[in-house]
Amino acid sequence: MKKIKILSLTMFMLLLAACSNVGEKEADNDKLKIVATYSIIADMTENIVGDKAEVYSMVPIGTDPHMYDPLPSDTKKVSGADLVFYNGLNLETGKGWFQDLLEVTNKKDVAFAVSEEVTPIYLSDKGKETQEDPHAWLDIQNSIKYVDIITQRVIEKDPDNREFYLKNQTQYVKQLEEMDQYAKKAVEEIPQEKRILVTSEGAFKYFSNAYGFKSAFIWEINTDSQGTPEQMKKIIKIINDNHVPALFLETSVNPKTMDTISNETGVPIYSKIFTDSLAKKGEEGDTYLKMIKWNIDKVIEGLSQK
Ligand SMILES: [Zn+2]
Repeated sequence: MKKIKILSLTMFMLLLAACSNVGEKEADNDKLKIVATYSIIADMTENIVGDKAEVYSMVPIGTDPHMYDPLPSDTKKVSGADLVFYNGLNLETGKGWFQDLLEVTNKKDVAFAVSEEVTPIYLSDKGKETQEDPHAWLDIQNSIKYVDIITQRVIEKDPDNREFYLKNQTQYVKQLEEMDQYAKKAVEEIPQEKRILVTSEGAFKYFSNAYGFKSAFIWEINTDSQGTPEQMKKIIKIINDNHVPALFLETSVNPKTMDTISNETGVPIYSKIFTDSLAKKGEEGDTYLKMIKWNIDKVIEGLSQK
């Protein structure tokens, strides 16, 4: 009796699996399935593919992509993906989470670093000089390179829709160029000596080079130890020496350390700022273009204060 029960349960499970396979195929419509490691790359990709592909963004909004524990649902999405886009440049490296995921899902051959055409900036901390700084997307000219790679790879997988993707790319790049011009012009409002951008993580190296700032930070990269006494001492000195009027807090880091710095120096945290994640859908900063505009506007407002 027991044996029969087990058998029928097995049959039932198989049947379920078969049914769900059929269901997936039907829902599919032969659309390309793309996984992006985090929201910023997902948004760029959506701008290119429109409704021709399903884009799944893995690391949740407001969460740090340097370190992440993929969920079973992420593994499933990557397993079924035609393309996987990641930043590279030492971003998705914490505890090897992303490499492990590619290994487990056997998807290395369809995974592409969208930063492959970017000229890297290296970390400056002692002993880390050979490691790349990942935050290339905060310079819009680099993001245009990201979009080139995304478009090329999508066209390789789906050449039938080539014209559609190229048209979207042209339109999107035009918007990116306009935002780049906006940023470069807006910065002229702040005197040179006031252009010091203080954040928790040193995520603004590419941004600072592109738009004429000096960046200062508590720790250099999120995979570091965050907020050691030496790091705190160093940043407090920079803030005091330069009479920095405003501090900024990234949406994807723990606010505790920057709160302490603010208390110690008496300099307020002027605004949240976006580095490694977009805002939630429907909130300000929920696309790459909007997050960049937010960052520029808030930094300029904050640093223009007397
Ligand atoms: Zn970061």
